[in-house]
Amino acid sequence: MADILYFVIPCYNEEEVLPETSKRLKEQLGHLVSKGLAHPDSRIVFVNDGSKDRTWELIEQLHAQDAVFSGVNLSRNRGHQNALLAGLMTVKDAADLTISMDADLQDDIAACEEMLEKYYDGADIVYGVRSRRQTDTFFKKFTAEGFYKLMNGMGANTVYNHADYRLLSRRALEGLAEFTEVNLFLRGMVPLVGFPSEIVYYERAERYAGESKYPLKKMLGFALEGITSLSTKPLQMITGLGGVVFLICIVALCYSLIRHAMGETIVGWTTTMLSIWGIGGAILLSLGVIGEYIGKIYLETKNRPRFIVEQFLDDKHGFETKKKRERGNPAVPEDTKKAPSEEISEE
Ligand code: UDP
Ligand code: MG
Repeated sequence: MADILYFVIPCYNEEEVLPETSKRLKEQLGHLVSKGLAHPDSRIVFVNDGSKDRTWELIEQLHAQDAVFSGVNLSRNRGHQNALLAGLMTVKDAADLTISMDADLQDDIAACEEMLEKYYDGADIVYGVRSRRQTDTFFKKFTAEGFYKLMNGMGANTVYNHADYRLLSRRALEGLAEFTEVNLFLRGMVPLVGFPSEIVYYERAERYAGESKYPLKKMLGFALEGITSLSTKPLQMITGLGGVVFLICIVALCYSLIRHAMGETIVGWTTTMLSIWGIGGAILLSLGVIGEYIGKIYLETKNRPRFIVEQFLDDKHGFETKKKRERGNPAVPEDTKKAPSEEISEE
C-alpha cells in the first residue's frame, strides 16, 4: 500500500479561495490515490490561523460534508510559520508524509506528483522551487529576490526561490519537532534537519482570489526574523567593523605623526584625531566580542538538537530511522505483487 499523505494548508482570511482550493486539492488527492502514490486514508488539513472572516466555518462545513477534509483551529492569529508548524505537528503521528502549501493556489498542485515520485525514490524532503516569477509584479519579484539574497548574505542559508511548498517524510517531521525554538523560520530550519532532499521546479501562479497577507512591512519583518533567528552574522559584522576602524586608526596615526614631525599641525589635533578613531575602534571591537558571546548564548538557548541519527548499525540495538516505503500500485492485483517487498513493508 502507498503511504498516508496529509496536505497541510495554513489559512488566514481565506474565505474567498477555500471553496476552490478544497475542490482542486480533493481532485488532486483522488488522482494521487488512483495512481498508487497516496493511501486512501490520506487527508487535507486546513489550519485556521485566527481568521476574522468565515474561514473556520467553511472548514467545519467541508469536514462535515467529506471526511477527507480535516481542520485545525488556532486560538488566535499566530502568523503563517506558526500556523504551518501547528498543522505539521498536529498530524505528525497520523501521517507518513506531509505536503505543505499556501491556500491561495499559487503553488502548482500538479507538482505534488513529482514530489511524491521523489519521495518514493528515497527523498525525505522535497522542496518546491519556483522556476519563474512571471506572474508576480515587478515590485514583488524584486523584493522577493532581494529577500533571498539578503538572507544568504547574512548567513541565513535557504533554498533559493523556495517558499513553504514542500514535502516532508515522517522522520523529517520528527527531526523538525526536535527544534524547540519559538522564533520560527521554517525554510531555514528544514535544511538543518538534514536527510536526503530533492528539488521540484514549478511555476508560481497568481493568487487565485483575495489579497496577499504579506505586504512589504510583513516581508521585511520576516526577513529580519529569518536573519536573526538563523544566524549571528550581524554580530560578527560588528567585530569586523571594529577591526576596520582600528586599522584606519593606525593609518591615521602614521599620517598624523608625519604631519606632526613636519610641524604642519595645530597643537592638539593629532591627539584629538587619534583618540576619536582609537576609542571608536576599541568600542566597536569590544562590542563585537561581547556580541560573539551573546550570539553563543542565543544559540544555546534555542536548545536545538545536536544531532539526528539516521541509522545505527549494530547487531543488537541497531535501528534505522528511515521508513521503508513502497509505492502502491492499484493496477496490479494484490496477489501478483512481489512477495519480498510486501514483507519489508510489514516490518
Ligand atoms: N497566512 C497565515 N497566517 C497569516 C498570514 C498568512 O496562515 O498571518 C497564510 C495564508 O492564508 C496563505 C499563506 O499563509 O495560505 C501565504 O500567505 P499569502 O499568500 O498572503 O502570501 P504571499 O503569497 O503573498 O507571499
Ligand atoms: Mg500567496
